[in-house]
Amino acid sequence: MNTERFNKLKENFKNRNIDVKYFDSLDDVKLYLLNTVPLECKVGIGHSGTLQKMNITNLLIQRGNVVYDKELAKNKDESKAIKKEALLSDWYISGSNAVTVDGRIINVDHSGNRVAAITFGPDKVVIVVGVNKVVDTVEEGVKRVKNIAGPLNAKRAGYNPPCVELNKCVDCSSKERVCNYLSIVEGQTDCNRIKLCIVNEECGF
Ligand code: SF4
Repeated sequence: MNTERFNKLKENFKNRNIDVKYFDSLDDVKLYLLNTVPLECKVGIGHSGTLQKMNITNLLIQRGNVVYDKELAKNKDESKAIKKEALLSDWYISGSNAVTVDGRIINVDHSGNRVAAITFGPDKVVIVVGVNKVVDTVEEGVKRVKNIAGPLNAKRAGYNPPCVELNKCVDCSSKERVCNYLSIVEGQTDCNRIKLCIVNEECGF
């Protein structure tokens, strides 16, 4: 991502009260998180290939944080309980499906826990996004979310909506539909709540 594009993105998010930080690598984001998230707080994790690549859940647990990550659940009931606890955590760390240069954060969810936590719940939210997910506009972002993230997320989670076979979204009404909740963050009132970390690596989908 060139400097001019990043500066434009940062300025547009600043106008929407959201601070953006730029990192050269996921390792740098990892250090930032470990230095910024307090030891004594509870941390919710939004499921994300980017966060898994950073191994952030285990690193936070090892140093003493209480972490709510549904990936630690042994069964569906436990997963649901963890998602609820994550909503009441002090911090929430998540990936995102797309961010736009004009200043929006776009996510789709199967059960809605991640978009709920990003929207309201934890007092501090950090969203980590690779440059591969930066697009110019909301229209492009939604297209990306539906046609790239949708099919790949469905496949990863073991669901089989039509996009898995077709490799594109057909706006299905399948029982296997994975994108039940579409969220667009357009700004925030508290400039210290959501922080966006853009990392100069291809991360997740
Ligand atoms: S609406 Fe259906 S077809 Fe489209 S991305 Fe979501 S699950 Fe796939």
